[in-house]
Amino acid sequence: MPEVPGPPSTSQLLTGLARLGQAVRMEAWRNAGPHNLSPLQADIVTLLLNKPGPIRQGEIVTALASTPPTVSDAVKVLRKKELLEAARDPGDARAMLLGLSSSGRTEADRLRSQSEKLTGALAVLSHDDFAAMLRGITTLMRELQDRQAIPVSQMCLTCRFFVPRAHPDQPGRPHHCNYVDAPFGDAELRVTCPDHEPLTDA
Ligand code: SF4
Repeated sequence: MPEVPGPPSTSQLLTGLARLGQAVRMEAWRNAGPHNLSPLQADIVTLLLNKPGPIRQGEIVTALASTPPTVSDAVKVLRKKELLEAARDPGDARAMLLGLSSSGRTEADRLRSQSEKLTGALAVLSHDDFAAMLRGITTLMRELQDRQAIPVSQMCLTCRFFVPRAHPDQPGRPHHCNYVDAPFGDAELRVTCPDHEPLTDA
């Protein structure tokens, strides 16, 4: 039987992932807004909006799976743009706590509404396709993290609260999160989670 034309399926999948990554990045650049934010600067502002209070720079590095020098540069620029406020950490005189200024909060609100174009595109996926895609992405991310090809993310697959397939009798919600003590499905797998705690070696 003749094969379908073109490079092998693994290349097709990698090309597709690269195109999607490009679309997300391009959308972020298009949404640079009045402060001309880079995608990383926008990620930092959005992250801080979802935090109950100021956090240390190290927490930003971990949450965004970035590196200290990269985040440090972005934070410097954001402070210059007066979108971030910094204060001494009362628990450690050498550390700073970072939070949004009032202009930073306004910008974070704008970014949140602007990202609706991408979330709207995701709405074409059926629930099963969405769940399968998230399961595939988290599996790949875990593998690439183990191979030290990408930075470590705060995701379910590396979280001590995650119990995979704990509920075989519930096909739609087979996993369990011990943090909230509740079952959940592949469509709710977290790639980044504020309550993540890393697995510890037994
Ligand atoms: S705490 Fe967050 S990362 Fe950990 S299992 Fe629960 S949802 Fe997943």
